[in-house]
Amino acid sequence: MRAIWMSMILSSMAILGPSISIASSDICAQVLDDTFDFNGRIIVEEKAQRGPRLQEYQERLMLVESLLGNLKRPTETRVTVGHLTIFSVFDRNDFSVYVGIQPQTASWKRSKVDLDTLNHEYAHAIFEKNLLASIPQFRDQYAAIDARARENDPAVILYTALHELFADIVTVVTTKNPDTFPELLAASPEALKSFELGVQDSHREFTFEELNYRSMTLGAHPGALKSWSSLLKQTESKQHPYFLLLPARWKFWGLVRNKISSASYQKQIIERVFPILSQEVERMLEFSQDSLSEADVQALNYRLMKSLEQVL
Ligand SMILES: [Zn+2]
Repeated sequence: MRAIWMSMILSSMAILGPSISIASSDICAQVLDDTFDFNGRIIVEEKAQRGPRLQEYQERLMLVESLLGNLKRPTETRVTVGHLTIFSVFDRNDFSVYVGIQPQTASWKRSKVDLDTLNHEYAHAIFEKNLLASIPQFRDQYAAIDARARENDPAVILYTALHELFADIVTVVTTKNPDTFPELLAASPEALKSFELGVQDSHREFTFEELNYRSMTLGAHPGALKSWSSLLKQTESKQHPYFLLLPARWKFWGLVRNKISSASYQKQIIERVFPILSQEVERMLEFSQDSLSEADVQALNYRLMKSLEQVL
């Protein structure tokens, strides 16, 4: 139950267990007040060493950190890159990140998938770190929500949806590609086990809808909002963390798409978006209803869209 929100869609099954070897690198840099040094913070296990090199993972994280403005860096995060035996995951208990890759099919396309996956998981660590820093009661209130262990707890669903939105936004701001995730998922036909949907078949393909829940561009299609509204009437949809905030995703990309090519604008986006999502997490902590209504979800998207409009 507790692990569901942490174990996101980006991984799959494999049969080989990992054995660990630690690679090292001399890359390090200083950013703002935090010691910014990935040396020793990333482990590429032996089974993953035909994938991207350690240095590529480091460079991606350095790029991400260069886009955070004054947000805090999760310096406690340790990254392990291993085989796809385990889901790619951010663990909020110890801030660790695991990236599961499939090195036997190493290619430039796979390499992009692996780096984008790392990008997304690391962004979860950034979000959590900054929530803890900006909401004094966050740790205790979330623990209380966690402890009541309600099935499909609306507060947990909203929290997960906001976490996923932030992680996808950080990744898209880094890649400047709004379809990073549909492309990533489509390029991982072997990685099609959707933990969140409870699908146990590791060989099935993602549905069209699941791919598109991660897209930031579909809102440009006529009728997109109407389709979303009508799907929202289904209980299943109201529990899907990627589906819930589609209008906000679309709005986000619509606002930044013509400006993100400016390096100075790109560097401001994440810092401007964080307080908006953080504010909604604070609201979520007070959410005590038994279920999410359509109106709750509509209102959340409306608030997010209005706030994004003001800052982007
Ligand atoms: Zn995620």
